[in-house]
Amino acid sequence: MTNEAESGGAAPSAVDEVVARAEALYHDVELSSVQRWRDAHGGAKAVGYMPIYVPRELIHAAGMLPVGLMGGRGQVEIIRGDAWFQSYICQIPRSTIELALTGRYALLDGFLFPSICDVIRNLSGMWKVLFPEKYVRYLDVPQNYDPDVGGRFFGSELRSLYADLCALSGEAPSDERLRASIALYNDNRRSIGRLMELRATEPWSVPAWEVYLALYAGNLLPVEEHTALVDAYIAAARAASRPRRDNARVVLSGAFCEQPPLELIRTLELAGCYVVADDMALGRRWPEGDIEVTGDPIAAIAEAFITRSPATAARYEPHGDRGAPLVQLVRKSHAEGVVLAAPSFCDPALLEQPILQDSLDKERLPWTAFKYSENLGQFQVIREQAGTFADSIKLWSEA
Ligand code: SF4
Repeated sequence: MTNEAESGGAAPSAVDEVVARAEALYHDVELSSVQRWRDAHGGAKAVGYMPIYVPRELIHAAGMLPVGLMGGRGQVEIIRGDAWFQSYICQIPRSTIELALTGRYALLDGFLFPSICDVIRNLSGMWKVLFPEKYVRYLDVPQNYDPDVGGRFFGSELRSLYADLCALSGEAPSDERLRASIALYNDNRRSIGRLMELRATEPWSVPAWEVYLALYAGNLLPVEEHTALVDAYIAAARAASRPRRDNARVVLSGAFCEQPPLELIRTLELAGCYVVADDMALGRRWPEGDIEVTGDPIAAIAEAFITRSPATAARYEPHGDRGAPLVQLVRKSHAEGVVLAAPSFCDPALLEQPILQDSLDKERLPWTAFKYSENLGQFQVIREQAGTFADSIKLWSEA
């Protein structure tokens, strides 16, 4: 995918170059960038993790590369993966198993499976059976958001995880290193925050598929390099002076785990929707805001999780009203409608959807809904649906 139409076939612009680098990482199913990092760091170890949230600071402070694993992204033929799962289940566990069984994850030394849903829990069990030589851990997250209960529980989980990771890498545990890692990830989240603000104010400057690629690159790049890439993208996109179109401003919600195909994201914009907020690659933006860099670093990470986790179907909602955060996001981003996009067979997203629809209806906010899978290949129906939705917003919306 290139911007030739916009650049008129001329030499690649600065923004094209940043996007091309990010897109190459997106297509790197062999994890060759991780191999290059290992080679450049004397064979240092790398630890993979599934969406949505793991505390990457702990992996980084243990001297290893955190590697976000987001399925096959439609680039892997599923042959053996299907044998491990029933047919009525989402796509990401199948492609993840396929990638592992075909050796593409052999260069990873450990795997973290955060608490998202039963599918991921089961996947962690399969991993232990299939890859007994690897470090594998299911990361439980609190279901109680009282800092004295859930905060203490999560702190003890994180301490145990950090001890495991240090044993894996051979590094001695160090609060100082942890605080340095937290500071680097704070920088990263701030850069991403600036990108999100730019998108909310000038969505024509930063197309959704480019923003997604810039976020996705954080799965593979060392944190400092990713921060630099995001900053470079912001600067290049601002300088590109792209034309403003009369698109409808929408929030895309439900894509927090299995990711939509890149072409689907592009299709939404071609259909007349500016995506001004979304929950794709949500782990890149988790927690919201800085983590404290003084005091006990593990307690600080646990506190940030308890108090500043983004709302998502895969997380316990301590305040009860599951629809309120989406309505707030629509208001904050000045969106005119919501696209509820959920992976097929995704229980967390699809069970929450009626609640979200009800909340949006009460606020008279327009929405449309469809399902996707990461290997979806036909986009015409979604293009027509999104185009009709955008047109209806422009013609009749009160939002
Ligand atoms: S897409 Fe949904 S059901 Fe599938 S693993 Fe992710 S959260 Fe679970």
